[in-house]
Amino acid sequence: MTDTTPRPRFRLFVDAPLSAGIAVALSRDQTHYLASVMRAEVGEMALLFNGRDGEWLARVAALAKAGAALVPERQTRPQAAEPDLWLLAAPLKKDRTDLVVEKAAELGVSRLWPVFTRRTNAGRVNAERLRAHLVEAAEQCERLTIAELAEPAPLDKVLASWPAGRLLLFLDEGGGGPPLAQVLNGLAPGPLALLVGPEGGFDAEERRMIAARPFARAVGLGPRILRAETAAIAALAVVQALAGDWGLGPRACG
Ligand code: SAH
Repeated sequence: MTDTTPRPRFRLFVDAPLSAGIAVALSRDQTHYLASVMRAEVGEMALLFNGRDGEWLARVAALAKAGAALVPERQTRPQAAEPDLWLLAAPLKKDRTDLVVEKAAELGVSRLWPVFTRRTNAGRVNAERLRAHLVEAAEQCERLTIAELAEPAPLDKVLASWPAGRLLLFLDEGGGGPPLAQVLNGLAPGPLALLVGPEGGFDAEERRMIAARPFARAVGLGPRILRAETAAIAALAVVQALAGDWGLGPRACG
């Protein structure tokens, strides 16, 4: 977008294909947001993205309680490759999980995978709510994709069907591994995953079970025990800075 174009007040994720002149219908929630919450008007501009066709400037062509239609006029950004970075995280208490999910989306995680470990207290995961957080965070942070939400699963099952070629860095609060930054600096490019434990941490046997996998490496985040959500957010920042799309390192997880 040129500097003279005022920034649209809305940036929305849609499923529909995006191309010039082909109207896109908004969902009921999006219509409500535009019409009733933001009091948008016909003729106002919005940004749309769908994870495939880049980002588009679109004009509100119709807006009623029953539905809204936006017509894409021009592409503002092409779709671009993003780091291939998974976050496996044990579900926490609701607010803390919400925080991790939102920050994971902002920090460019490509797949978020809730995993149940032995000491995980949360019994179930509200996938709909988590997905809504992923969409909202992507809309807000100008991402061009929505992180995939993988089916929540027990950790041992996840490890048993681990895809070839993806390194799993497990955040080991027990001091079992070298510093995360050191490990990242020595890595060849390739897909990555981070694993963070629950509030209660990993138990000793679980830690051994993970470390024994050929694709897993324990890493540390310094001398203090961090809350799980702090550990997840801090580790993602380190990965993006040294090996991801913050652009400081020689290596890119992709
Ligand atoms: N209650 C546990 C701490 C769990 S911290 C205990 O007292 O041992 C929650 C999770 O955050 C851990 O399972 C680990 O994945 C991560 N974590 C916290 N601090 C860390 C550190 N210093 N290094 C690596 N991982 C850490």
